[in-house]
Amino acid sequence: MSSRNQNRQPRSPNAKKGALVEIPLDKRRRIGAGRATGPTSSSRARQAFSEVNNRQDGTSTGEMASAEGTENIPVDFTKEEVETLLNEKPKTKKFDLKGKLEYMTDHNKKLKLCVKWFQRADESHLLEQERLRNSLESAEKKCTDTELEMEKKLGELNEILAQLRNDNSSLQEKLAKESAEKTDAINCHMKEKEARIASEKAQDLLSEDLKKAEQEKLAADHQIASQKDMYKRLQEYNTSLQQYNSKLQTDLSTANESLKKVEKEKLAIVENLSTLRGHYNTLQEQLTTSRASVDEAVRLKESLVNEVKCLREELHRVREDRDRQVSEVQALTTDLLKFREKTGKSFMELDNLTIKSNALQETCSSQLEQIRILQHQLAAANEKLKMADLSTLETKAQFDEQKRTTIELQERLANAELQLSEGEQLRKRLHNTILELKGNIRVFCRVRPLLSDDGPGTETVISYPTSTETLGRGIELLQSGGQKYPFTFDKVFSHEASQQDVFVEISQLVQSALDGYKVCIFAYGQTGSGKTYTMLGKPDAPKQKGLIPRSLEQIFQTSQALSAQGWKYKLQASMLEIYNETIRDLLLPSRSNSSDMTRGEGGVSGKQYTIKHDANGNAYVPDLTIVDVCSIQEITLLLEQAAQSRSVGKTLMNEQSSRSHSVFTLRISGVNENTEQQVQGVLNLIDLAGSERLSRSGATGDRLKETQAINKSLSCLSDVIFALAKREDHVPFRNSKLTTLLQPCLGGDSKTLMFVNISPEHSSVGESLCSLRFAARVNACEIGVPRRQTAIRSADSRLSYG
Ligand code: ADP
Ligand code: MG
Repeated sequence: MSSRNQNRQPRSPNAKKGALVEIPLDKRRRIGAGRATGPTSSSRARQAFSEVNNRQDGTSTGEMASAEGTENIPVDFTKEEVETLLNEKPKTKKFDLKGKLEYMTDHNKKLKLCVKWFQRADESHLLEQERLRNSLESAEKKCTDTELEMEKKLGELNEILAQLRNDNSSLQEKLAKESAEKTDAINCHMKEKEARIASEKAQDLLSEDLKKAEQEKLAADHQIASQKDMYKRLQEYNTSLQQYNSKLQTDLSTANESLKKVEKEKLAIVENLSTLRGHYNTLQEQLTTSRASVDEAVRLKESLVNEVKCLREELHRVREDRDRQVSEVQALTTDLLKFREKTGKSFMELDNLTIKSNALQETCSSQLEQIRILQHQLAAANEKLKMADLSTLETKAQFDEQKRTTIELQERLANAELQLSEGEQLRKRLHNTILELKGNIRVFCRVRPLLSDDGPGTETVISYPTSTETLGRGIELLQSGGQKYPFTFDKVFSHEASQQDVFVEISQLVQSALDGYKVCIFAYGQTGSGKTYTMLGKPDAPKQKGLIPRSLEQIFQTSQALSAQGWKYKLQASMLEIYNETIRDLLLPSRSNSSDMTRGEGGVSGKQYTIKHDANGNAYVPDLTIVDVCSIQEITLLLEQAAQSRSVGKTLMNEQSSRSHSVFTLRISGVNENTEQQVQGVLNLIDLAGSERLSRSGATGDRLKETQAINKSLSCLSDVIFALAKREDHVPFRNSKLTTLLQPCLGGDSKTLMFVNISPEHSSVGESLCSLRFAARVNACEIGVPRRQTAIRSADSRLSYG
C-alpha cells in the first residue's frame, strides 16, 4: 500500500476532484470557445488542443489550407490564431474582385478548417467531459463519502468538543468557586490573622492588666493581711485591755474584799482586844502568858498593817490605773461622742440637705407646674398673637384699602374742588358777562361788624334772607317800628366777610383793567360805615389790607405772569382828593402833612388843579403827580403818603371821618412785544366822602361847608347815574368835580362797581336806609356796555381817567 502511494501527491479536498473538476461545465465550454482567462484553464485548453492534434504537431495554417476537404488533416488552432482569423480583413485593392474572391475562398477554407477543428475539438471535449464527469462523479461520491465521514467525525468531534466545553466550564466554575473559596479563605485567614494579632495585642494588654491586677491584688492582699493583722492585734489589744480591766476589777474587788476582811478581822481583833482588855484583868494573869500572844498579835497586826499599807498602795496604784483607764475610756467616749456628734451633725446636715432638697424638689415641681402653666399661657398668647397678627393683617389690608379709597376720594375731592373752582370762575365770568351785556352798574353791599365804639346795648338792625333766590344777595333792614326793608344787590357781604372774600369778588374787575377796560370802583356810605376800610384797609395788617393794595398786588403778579407771553406793562399811579370841590394832589412830595388844616377854596398848597379833556374827550388833571410804579413796596409807600396827606376832619360820626373823596387811579398800559398789541386799562378806586345828611352830622361852619360840598357832589353823582340810566340827552357830568373826573368811567364804556357800606348799629338805620335805597336805584341803572381799549401802539401816555 505504501509503495503504491509513494509517488502520489497528497490528497487535498480539491485534488480529489481532479484538475478540472472544480471548474463548472458551462465555464469549461466557454474556455473551449477561447474565452478562458486563468493560466490553468488556458494550459488545459492548450492540452485539449494538443490532444486533438496529437498526431501532427507543428502544422501551420498554410498547411491547413492545403489540407482542405481531408478529414484527418492535422490542424491546430490557438486562440489567438482563431481570433486573427475571425478579424482578418481582405488585403486586396478596392476593385480587385478576383483577388478578393481568392482571398475569400482561401479565408473560407481556413474558416471551414477551423470549424472542423472546433467540431473535432468539441467531440474530444465531450469525451473528455464524459471522462471527467465520470471521474467527477466518482470523486463527488468519494467526496460525499468523505464528507459524510467527516460530518460524522465532525459530529463526534463536536460532541467531544461540547463535552470538553462542558468539562471546561464545570472546571472553570470549580476553579472560580475554588478561587472564590480561596479568596474567602485568604480573607478569612487575613481576618483571623488580624483578629489573632488584635487578640494577641488584647491578650498582651490583658496580661499586662492581669499583671497589674495581680500586683494590685498582692498589694491589696498585703494591705488586707496587714489590716487583718492590725485588726487582730487591735482585737487582741482590746481583749487584753478588757481582760486587764476585768482583772483590775477583780483585783479591786478582791482587794476590797480582803480590805473588808481585814477590817472585819481588825474589828474582830479590836473586839477581841476589847474582850481581851475586858478580860485583861481577868486575864492579867494570863497576860504574861498571853503577852507573847499579844506581841504576836501585835506583830501580826503590824504585818497586817504593812500588808494593808501594801494593799493600799496597790489599791492606790490600781485606782490610778483605773483612773487612767477611766480617763482613756472617757477620752474614747468623748471621741465616740464627738464622732457621734459629727455623725449626728452630718445626719443633721443630711437631714437638712434632704429637707432642703425636698423643698427644692417641691419648688422645682411647683416651678415646673408654673412653667407648664406659663407654657400653656404662652401657647395661648401665641395663638392670640397669631390671631392678632391675622387680624392686624386684615386690619392692615382694610387700612390699605381705606387708604387707597381715601386717596381716591381725596383725588376725586381735589378734582371736584378744581371743577368747583373752575365752575365758580366760570360762573363769575358768565355773571360778569351777563352784567356786561346788561350794562348795569354793579352794586355790592357790605355791612361792617359792630364795633366797640358803637356803644353797649346796640343791636344789629341787619338781617340776611336765607331763601335760595336771594342767598348771598339779599339784605333786610329793620326799623324800630318793626318795619322790614328788603334789598337785593349783586352781592351782599355780611359783617363776617373778610377783606379777602370781598377781593375775590372784584378780582375779575381788576383783571379787566389789565385786559384794557376802564374799571371804576366806588365806596359809598355814611361816615364810619367802612368805606376806607374796604378800599384801603389797614395796610400794616396783611389780613386787613383793602381792595387797593390787593388789586395792585394782583396786577403786579398777573403782569409778571403775562410777561412770559410777551406782555410788558407800565403802571402809573396818581391819587387825588376832592375836598370842597377842590382837587388836591395826594402824592405831591412837598406837601405839608398837617392834618388839622383849615382849607379855603383853593386848597392848602394854593395850587389850582383843573380838570381838562384830551382829544378823545377823556378827562385828565394836568400837573398831577404821576408815579410810575414797579413794585408793591412803592405802592405801599405811596398809599401811606396819601393816607397821611388825606384831609380828615372831626365830626360827630367818626373821629377820623374823611371829608373828601379820594380817587386812586392806576393807568395800565400793556404792550405785547410779540403781537404789537396794545391795551390801555384804567383802574379807579374811589373812597367817597361820608354820605350822611346834613342834619345828622351836626356840623357847623367849615364842617358845614364841607358837608354841603360832599352832599352836593354825591347828589351830582346820583344825578349823573340816573340821567345815564334814563338815557337822557344831557348828563350833568360837569356839575361836580367828581362826576367831571369820572365821566369816562361812568359814560357807558367802563365797568363800574359800587360798594354800598352799611353801619349795623341801630342809630344808623336812617342813614343805612338812605344808602341802601340809593344803591338799589343805582343797581337798576343801565349805563351802557363796557368796551375794551385796545390798539396797535399809541404814543399817548398821558394819564387820564378814561
Ligand atoms: P368810613 O371810611 O366809611 O368813614 P372807616 O373805614 O373809617 O369808615 O371805618 C370805621 C371804623 O370801622 C374803622 O375803625 C374801621 O376799622 C372799622 N371797620 C369798618 N369796616 C370794618 C370791617 N368790615 N371789619 C372790621 N372793622 C371795620
Ligand atoms: Mg373813610
